Amino acid sequence: MKLRGWVKNTAAGVEIEVEGQADDLQAFFQALRQESPPLARVDGITATAHPPRGYADFAIQHSQSQPGDFIPISPDVAICPDCLDELFDPADRRYRYPFINCTNCGPRFTIIEGIPYDRPQTTMKSFPLCAACAAEYHDPRDRRFHAQPVACADCGPRLWLEVGGQEVLSGEAALLETQRRIAGGEILAIKGLGGFHLACDATNPAAVAELRRRKLRVDKPFALMMLDAAAVAAQCLLSDEEQALLESRARPIVILRRRMDSRLCAALSPGQDTAGVMLPYTPLHYLLLHDAARPGAAWVMTSANLSEEPIATHNEEARQRLGGIADAFLMHNRAIRTRCDDSVARLAEAGRPLLLRRGRGYAPQPVRLPFEAAPVLAAGAELKNTFCLGRGRYAFLSQHIGDLENDETLQAYEDSVAHLEALFRVQPEVIAHDLHPDYLATRYALERAARQGLPAVGVQHHHAHIAACMADNGLDGKRAVIGVAFDGVGYGEDGLSWGGEFLLADYRGFRRAAHLAYIPLPGGDLARREVWRLALAWLWQCGLPWEEVAWLQTASPQQAQAAQVVRRQLEKRLNAPLSSSMGRLFDAAAALAGVRQAVNYEGQAAIEFEALVDPEETGAYPFAVAQQEGMLILDPAALFGEMLADLRARRAAGVIAARFHNGVAEMVAQVAGRLRDEHGIEQVALSGGVWQNATLLNKTVACLQRAGLGVLLHRQVPPNDGGVALGQAVIALHAQGRPAEG
Ligand code: ZN
Ligand code: ZN
Ligand code: FE
Repeated sequence: MKLRGWVKNTAAGVEIEVEGQADDLQAFFQALRQESPPLARVDGITATAHPPRGYADFAIQHSQSQPGDFIPISPDVAICPDCLDELFDPADRRYRYPFINCTNCGPRFTIIEGIPYDRPQTTMKSFPLCAACAAEYHDPRDRRFHAQPVACADCGPRLWLEVGGQEVLSGEAALLETQRRIAGGEILAIKGLGGFHLACDATNPAAVAELRRRKLRVDKPFALMMLDAAAVAAQCLLSDEEQALLESRARPIVILRRRMDSRLCAALSPGQDTAGVMLPYTPLHYLLLHDAARPGAAWVMTSANLSEEPIATHNEEARQRLGGIADAFLMHNRAIRTRCDDSVARLAEAGRPLLLRRGRGYAPQPVRLPFEAAPVLAAGAELKNTFCLGRGRYAFLSQHIGDLENDETLQAYEDSVAHLEALFRVQPEVIAHDLHPDYLATRYALERAARQGLPAVGVQHHHAHIAACMADNGLDGKRAVIGVAFDGVGYGEDGLSWGGEFLLADYRGFRRAAHLAYIPLPGGDLARREVWRLALAWLWQCGLPWEEVAWLQTASPQQAQAAQVVRRQLEKRLNAPLSSSMGRLFDAAAALAGVRQAVNYEGQAAIEFEALVDPEETGAYPFAVAQQEGMLILDPAALFGEMLADLRARRAAGVIAARFHNGVAEMVAQVAGRLRDEHGIEQVALSGGVWQNATLLNKTVACLQRAGLGVLLHRQVPPNDGGVALGQAVIALHAQGRPAEG
């Protein structure tokens, strides 16, 4: 643009000084916003005028990194269209090279070992650039200018196939053999971007069943990978918005509805009408699913771990841990520094994406805060754990860590905390944690706060959910919202288990205004898995008879005896802790409706219940709302009464499921409307794991809007416990008086 001056990276972003004709400068400003590179993120542009200094040319100045600076780190993003063209262009020097990348695509977060972000500080350091790659790397006009992971077949990582710990084939031959073995029904471990996948043919029932058996995974759905949107559309219903999400640079797993005539095995997601599908995101994936594979090939690509363990990342670790699961290993020698699972999303209200798991493609992209934050660490919750680091205007929510319930995951957690603190140069001055004393994350937070002499701030779980939703929407927190926090479990201020909560909340505090009636959970934690206990508990609580429950009439002697134990537990309040959990109410209703009596993964009964909903049905089961000492108590006695009557009348399961969902949605609008009238608050924030239920979410949003209420939904972080840490951070900062007005 005939401009002179310089450009350089700084801690605050990019600094540019340019001189030239007014028209050219104007065009430059416009281009900055409109033609910035795909991975650039322009949060704002500040410009000031100076008298010309008379520069002779335009220069790229070297950035000096200052201690305490931080530079945002890009998530790993899918291969770009240019690289994809080159990958399949026989004339290109990177033709069929599985690790092709450029400035606009490729690995980032998962290969970075330290900052500043330079090749010696990534796992690419062991691959010295060849002359051709170095020329591209140093040429400002090249697409690979300063692309740290740049590589080619002469200088970069390589691919090989291992069987029984021995390399049997490499390069192209390893690729072809992988395709052949998958087509033949084998299970392969394939090293990817943020970890290993286990892969098999998703249209081969025997292979899928064998993978379930070896992975010790009973019913929890497997994710799939297919070549492109056309292949997906042949198996699943695909809206334009879903296709856009599927093809986005983040390439999340998208939850889609399976077509009736789908060739996909039912065993991929038993009891559900959906499939979790993603498109290839690395050049290796494209090579695997391209030409040699049968047209329309669909592969299971599930995180390579045994149930409950973190996903395997290192070659040696994979050999040891996956040796009993995989028939062969497709390996490469680019090390993975940071474990990062595939993200999961679905489309919810008004075609908007809802993240269910935030990992590859999204993390560690920061959430912009509406205030200036002191350095803070929020430890997160237990299930679907993520943690959050904050500084300045940014909250860095970590990638999905997993269920923090064992030593392996705790180790991964502690490593990630240390790594992200180093990358973003955050030295926490405040540590936030859940109120639950037994969460490993809570223990970590308290121990560390004590060791470093830092203030530890306990944050109520559902308050954190609502604050997360507010921060997710950029609210400054000066005005309170009506927070509807529905989830499975969260430690309440009264020491009981909460989960069906209406909170009047801002960042400084909350008031519990309404909640689902408490019921005893017979058997405590056992009731989480054996959901039939919850159904009986609710009937008992509501004074309804058990005799009419169909599955009890046909129960085995052992089951009948177990039911008698439950009755005793309820009557004597033995091993039956109180809970107001909405998640458990869904489980209870699903069990009562005969969906299933036990679950083998979190939320299974509720998810299968949702799948039954008849979209045509408009009837709704009623809730009673009672006032008790200034608190509204939501009582589903009438709901269960009508549900039993419908079951007695043998009404269709889809109608029963719909009336239940409609009932909850209408109750939310009714209670929120009442709270609005009493307190003058117009905004309703929906957060908590129950809102992963898109059917419930859509119905509830419609009811709230009809009642004239504003609705806040999650945008950048999941509504489940994967988003809680963001709320913890924001609340702890306010408790410490540490946000400066800005
Ligand atoms: Zn590229
Ligand atoms: Zn090279
Ligand atoms: Fe929660």
